[in-house]
Amino acid sequence: MIIDGKACAARLNVATRAAVTTLTGLHRIQPALAVVLVGEDPASQVYVRNKVRQAGEAGIRSVEHRLPPDTSSDVLLALVRTLNDDPVVHGILVQLPLPAHIDEAQVIATIAAEKDVDGFHALNAGGLLNGAPHALVPCTPQGCVMLAKQQLGESLAGLHAVVVGRSNIVGKPLAVLLLQENCTVTIAHSRTRDIEAICRQADILFVAVGRAELVNENWIKPGATVIDVGINRTGSEQQGFRLVGDVDFKSATSRAGAITPVPGGVGPMTIACLLRNTVLAACHQNGIDRQLVPETVVR
Ligand code: NAD
Repeated sequence: MIIDGKACAARLNVATRAAVTTLTGLHRIQPALAVVLVGEDPASQVYVRNKVRQAGEAGIRSVEHRLPPDTSSDVLLALVRTLNDDPVVHGILVQLPLPAHIDEAQVIATIAAEKDVDGFHALNAGGLLNGAPHALVPCTPQGCVMLAKQQLGESLAGLHAVVVGRSNIVGKPLAVLLLQENCTVTIAHSRTRDIEAICRQADILFVAVGRAELVNENWIKPGATVIDVGINRTGSEQQGFRLVGDVDFKSATSRAGAITPVPGGVGPMTIACLLRNTVLAACHQNGIDRQLVPETVVR
C-alpha cells in the first residue's frame, strides 16, 4: 500500500483554499506569506518556486524577497524586522540553509513568533512542547502525522512510533506531536545501539536522517507503516540524478504494510502544511477562531 502524499496534500489545499475564501470574503483579510531567499542554491530555488506557486493557487498572496549570496546579516535582519512590522504580512519564511556567514539561529529568533510559519522560533518550539493552542507547528512533522492518520485512522493512541533522527526541524517536533497523539514514542539517532532491532518494534516508523536508502526490510516489522522524510539526490551528471528517500523503497515494500514514496510522499504535505500555517497565523493575528481551518482533512 503506497500512501499518496500528493493526493493528501491536494485535499488539504482544498480545505486551506476554502478557509482563505472565507477570510477574504467575510473578514476582508487576504492571508499573505513573505518568502525570503538568500543566494542561489538550486534546491532552495526550486522549493521557493513551488511554495510561491502553491500559495497563489490557494489564494494566499505571496511576496518574494530574493537577496544576493553576499547579503550581510544586518541587511537580512533588517528585512525580517520590516516584515514583522508589516500588518499585511501574516507569515514569514526564510528559506534554509542560509549562506555560512549568516547565523541561522539569530535570523529565526528575529522572526516574530506569530509570523513564524515554519514553526522554528523558540516560542513555537516551547509552545508545541507545552501543548499551547496557538503555537505554530513545524510543517514536515505535521505532514508526517497526517500521513500516518491517512493510513491508520484518526487515533494513533497506543501505537509504538519510532522516529529515526533528532533534528530540531523534523525528529524532535515529530516525537512531541506523536506523544500528543498518545503514541508510545522512541527516538533513535546516529548513536543509538542496535537501531535495526528498535525500529523493528515500530508500528509506525518515521525516518528523517538524510542518508540515501539507509533503511531496508530488516528494519521493518511486518505490516508496519513507514513514513520516509528523507530527500536525497543520487546518481551523477552522466547517468542522470534521481531523488530517493532514507528508506530503500523496493526492499521496504516487501515488509511494510504501507509506505510513503519519495518523491510524492512527505514533500507535498510539507508545503500544504506551510500554507495551512499561514492561514492559521492570519486568523490568530486578527482574532479569528482557528476552527475556520479544519484540524485534519486527509482522509
Ligand atoms: P539533520 O541532518 O538535521 O538530522 C539528521 C538526524 O539523523 C540527526 O539527528 C542524526 O542523529 C540522525 N542520523 C544521522 N545518521 C544516522 C544514522 N546512520 N542512523 C540513525 N540516525 C542517523 O536532517 P533533517 O533536517 O532532520 O532532515 C533529514 C532528512 O529529511 C533529509 O534527507 C532532508 O532532506 C529531509 N527533509 C525532508 C523534508 C520534506 O519536506 N520531505 C523536510 C525536511 C527535511
